[in-house]
Amino acid sequence: MAIVSSSAGSPRPRKEREPNRVVDAARQPGDDLDPAVPASRDDGLRPRCLRDYIGQRELKQVLGIAVKAALGRGDVLDHVLLYGPPGLGKTTMAMVLAEELGVKCRITSAPALERPRDIVGLLVNLQPRELLFIDEIHRLSRVAEELLYPAMEDHRLDLTVGKGSTARTRSLDLPPFTLVGATTRAGALSSPLRDRFGLIQRLEFYGLDDLRSIVERAAGLLALDLTADACAEIALRCRGTPRIANRLLRRVRDVACVRDCSGPIDRLLVDEALTLHRVDGRGLDASDRRLLELLLQSHGGGPAGLDTLAAALGEDPSTLESVVEPYLLQLGFLQRTPRGRVVTAAGRDHLAAA
Ligand code: ADP
Repeated sequence: MAIVSSSAGSPRPRKEREPNRVVDAARQPGDDLDPAVPASRDDGLRPRCLRDYIGQRELKQVLGIAVKAALGRGDVLDHVLLYGPPGLGKTTMAMVLAEELGVKCRITSAPALERPRDIVGLLVNLQPRELLFIDEIHRLSRVAEELLYPAMEDHRLDLTVGKGSTARTRSLDLPPFTLVGATTRAGALSSPLRDRFGLIQRLEFYGLDDLRSIVERAAGLLALDLTADACAEIALRCRGTPRIANRLLRRVRDVACVRDCSGPIDRLLVDEALTLHRVDGRGLDASDRRLLELLLQSHGGGPAGLDTLAAALGEDPSTLESVVEPYLLQLGFLQRTPRGRVVTAAGRDHLAAA
């Protein structure tokens, strides 16, 4: 059933997306390097080489082989498209690939390439075999995309000089380079652009073992002493996402500093810190719980339409769909059915136990 936005009845004021939810996977100030701001601070937690990149075994295997083969042939690495939810390591992988290839990684994002001269400037300044990383590549303008096609395929830049009847196309040779595109919405990419990537790889949410290793590694880099239980607790609550794991670890560090705790940080302290930030035992926050409670209390568990739920919560439907729901779906606490959203038995049990 298509969900149609209803204009009947008095419109409720839409609440802005909750600012900086501690469990939001999107990059926030203080997290990690922002590709759109090359000079921004790196948090020092980003793995630098394939060996340090935890999890995503298939991705590492495929790209590791491609890198070795390219190096062996003395060739440039094929263009790579990385897609998947935010915070899973797409930017990190682009930087790792550059490191493994022994070349520079030039980082930008599609919204920074609005004017044709932005992308032209980047392309003409590339050195042979360098890696160009474009984040949010689904947001490229048509002009920028069309400039990229011959650049990706034939290492050629086709520029139109002059206007109207005097307009002429001039071609410039470019050095061979690798484009790494990242997107959270692979389906929003035009097919001509998608077809020009030789390697298309999806990043998956991380399993608990890998998340534990990520927390242990980050704790080591931040010189924090955490018990194994404390690492496991953060792993359980970080929604399968390394960026959130690192952020939760920093919030735990704050509480540990204030408590002036002498021994290692234990599970109890992690629980105290994350409860303070209203992150429950499975990583749900107030927004997640409000949605499940509304479905249970006002709709008998569902089904209820997205727009109905969004109006009652004062949320924007697309925010609800793209920010709040994915993790609840992944946990199996919520289902999308043709008739609307439904709370599952697991979702009911979780709320009852909370
Ligand atoms: P994305 O580009 O997919 O939004 P990032 O590559 O910026 O995500 O990753 C966010 C943060 O998560 C990084 O700063 C890094 O510290 C951490 N991270 C991501 N992937 C891994 C990984 N495989 N192993 C360890 N840490 C990771």
